[in-house]
Amino acid sequence: MKSFESLGLSRGLVESVQQIGFETPTPIQEKAIPVLLNGNRDFVGLAQTGTGKTAAFGLPLLELVDDRSRDTQALVLAPTRELGLQIASDLENFSEKFKSFNIVAVYGGSSISEQIRKVKKGAQIIVATPGRLIDLIDRKAINLNTIKYVVLDEADEMLNMGFKDDLDKILSFTPDDKATWLFSATMPREVRAIMKNYMSDPFELTVGEQNTGNVNIEHNYVIVQENNRYPALKRILDYNPDIFGLIFCRTRIDTQKIAEMLMKDGYNADSLHGDLTQQQRDRVMMKFRQRALQILVATDVAARGIDVEDITHVIHLNIPDEMEFYTHRSGRTARAGKKGVSIAMISKRELGKVKQIEKTLKSPFKRMMIPTGADVCQKQLLALMHRVREVKVNEDEIAEFLPAIEAELKDVSKQELIKRFASIEFNRFLDYYRNAPDLNVEGKRGSSSEGGEERYSTGSRFFINLGKMDGIDVSKMLELIDDHAGVSKKDIGKIDLKGAYSFFEVEPSRAEEIVSGLNGIEYKGRQVRVEITEQKQSGGSRGRSSGGRSDRGKSSSGRNSGGGGRSRSSNQKGKWR
Ligand code: AMP
Repeated sequence: MKSFESLGLSRGLVESVQQIGFETPTPIQEKAIPVLLNGNRDFVGLAQTGTGKTAAFGLPLLELVDDRSRDTQALVLAPTRELGLQIASDLENFSEKFKSFNIVAVYGGSSISEQIRKVKKGAQIIVATPGRLIDLIDRKAINLNTIKYVVLDEADEMLNMGFKDDLDKILSFTPDDKATWLFSATMPREVRAIMKNYMSDPFELTVGEQNTGNVNIEHNYVIVQENNRYPALKRILDYNPDIFGLIFCRTRIDTQKIAEMLMKDGYNADSLHGDLTQQQRDRVMMKFRQRALQILVATDVAARGIDVEDITHVIHLNIPDEMEFYTHRSGRTARAGKKGVSIAMISKRELGKVKQIEKTLKSPFKRMMIPTGADVCQKQLLALMHRVREVKVNEDEIAEFLPAIEAELKDVSKQELIKRFASIEFNRFLDYYRNAPDLNVEGKRGSSSEGGEERYSTGSRFFINLGKMDGIDVSKMLELIDDHAGVSKKDIGKIDLKGAYSFFEVEPSRAEEIVSGLNGIEYKGRQVRVEITEQKQSGGSRGRSSGGRSDRGKSSSGRNSGGGGRSRSSNQKGKWR
């Protein structure tokens, strides 16, 4: 393996890069940097996202651009504002101790006059999204005559997003003798056309096989019934308490809806899509980057190019129609040599699509079973115990409270203590998943429509000690509740009839009437007993406090102990950190 020094970079630049923590070049850096340092050859780099492309073109660019001249010498085009900002910030970091550049990012959704002012001050390097750059060109606010290097990053994405005409126009404003460096994860016809029309005899470099997925990504799929997508998603999230994940939806509306449902159900989630203002998008991205957000639900367009370290899972709520979308989505994980998991949620009919992607990527997909309630409970319990083992004890500060704690617990054996302690956080999972059905289509364990897990339910859930064995059916149950508690059908949700008992849901504001109206009455000689079992929020999330990122100074106590009756407070968001 080569070192950065041996690639021909200046000492100052090598030191900067090493200070950032890059010890050795990635394969694309190793191969591209020496070629690009020559400066006068067009270049095409075919590599997956996350392989270190930014430094592969950025370091040679910083070597070649003259910081003593105020002319704009390099133009980097990127498909999204997020990627553009990231490239600009990477270039600044790389060059900090090396040369004094004025690097300006130009992108939509932010004050154009401010960007024009910065460009006019003399920016040697401009990083731009195509649409906003066209605005600047039209306002004659930018001079591209002095450009020596044009970088087209994620060219396939820019073309996918409909920037072809903008690219044609931008390139026509740049001098003929510039060098063009193009990077793309895939090589569709449209990218070939750009190469043909705007580049001469480019040096072509492919890192990894074309279209081959990143080998560090484990590709999985689960088969779900359409109406089980959301509960299945929650199972997957609950089964991965330490997830730091990205969920892709097809539409903005779905993205918003799923994020809202997750938030309501207590997950630390938020959404990223084009209906948000730029400010809102920035805020969400900042939270995600800082790990203050555990789950980001996004559209393909909004999440393109984002580079957030250590994303553990990419979940496709629906499998995308386009192969390229799948590559870009899953490429958000397993970056910089790390491992990552991609999970596509598909219907049985979509198996063919999986096979097709499998063939193109030359990477096998594994069928994953949707975790059962018991799987989730076991996983969460172990995660909780792991946290107990790992928690940092603040000896000094806890010391003064210990005598009182010890006195309170002096009669409880170690075994009993462990059991009780675990139960505090764990009961919610147990309650929620106790009767949870198997969501697998033709799952190993067979699927069942009975059980406690609800879909978009919002009510309080009650246990009643009457069931089919008592001759109760749905209409009799409704009648009984109405007659004795005065709660009519419109406030009753799902009714689950079992043998000797049942569950039913009620609009939370009517819960009191149920308890006082039904408890103690007689039905066919039996004394009726009702108990609230839980606020139907989703079992899952609640224990999310036990996720790995939760230890950062946040107490998890008192938050949601036990299953029952947790009120739906508006401050749930972020609670599980
Ligand atoms: P990129 O493909 O440029 O978006 O880079 C993907 C990720 O890899 C980024 O988080 C970079 O910071 C990281 N990275 C790039 N080059 C190296 C390197 N030589 N060593 C370690 N990490 C790197």
